Amino acid sequence: MGMVWANFCNIFLLSALSLGLLSTACAPPVPQQSYVRECILPEDQAGTISGRWPIPEVPVAFFQPHLPMFLEREITAMVSAAETWNKFYGSTRGFDLVNIGTQSQPLTANISRPDAPCSQDGLIMHGRYEAPVMLYMATNWPYKESGQQDIIALTSFCFTPEQPINRFYMAMLEFNYQYFFQDGTKQPDVESIMLHELGHLIGLDHSCEGSPKPGMPNCSQGNIDRDYLDAILYPIIQFPDGVNGEARRSLRRNDMGRANCLYDPAE
Ligand SMILES: [Zn+2]
Repeated sequence: MGMVWANFCNIFLLSALSLGLLSTACAPPVPQQSYVRECILPEDQAGTISGRWPIPEVPVAFFQPHLPMFLEREITAMVSAAETWNKFYGSTRGFDLVNIGTQSQPLTANISRPDAPCSQDGLIMHGRYEAPVMLYMATNWPYKESGQQDIIALTSFCFTPEQPINRFYMAMLEFNYQYFFQDGTKQPDVESIMLHELGHLIGLDHSCEGSPKPGMPNCSQGNIDRDYLDAILYPIIQFPDGVNGEARRSLRRNDMGRANCLYDPAE
């Protein structure tokens, strides 16, 4: 009955160092396809499914005291990213997966960031799904001590191990508003970042990694599938002019194929 705290889901800023390292992993954009409807999980991506929620309409709530701090356009972008996932699942599975409210009335809750999210006294949830997924603006980035200032956003979750897919019962999304998004810092495209983080939230790990593990392709291997590099769940976002992050606001083939393996319409 282990409850595991996993926070390997993030987007890294492409630094000058990793640019050289991953220069083979830059794919030209692929034109948007119509929705992929079947479950497609390539063998070399077998380890890229993290878990799934027991119910559709997972509520995602802005931490209420933070809400006035997000700009209206940022809230609009985040809600829009949720709608992109919902339109996809609405078409392929017949339900909305995420409930973040509307642009004029986003969902809010007043649950502070837990210190020990998955422990017995850490939070409200003890193996059950009882509270919304919380969305935080982190003006004091909690992961900077471990040298992870370059992470733009992080999705973390608690799950109970289950076959064939682990079951989520708590999660949070944190946006790094200390080192990004503010005046004078790099400006990632909020909608693109949210679309990526929501991909983690629904249960997808990255399409590939710089430090690969079993069932996870290596992003820099020469013969890597071009769809992995094109995916929204690709771990790196580019800043072509050095300041503004690229806009990647639509789901790609690899994201959709894997996402269809998570939620079965018959369940
Ligand atoms: Zn990520």
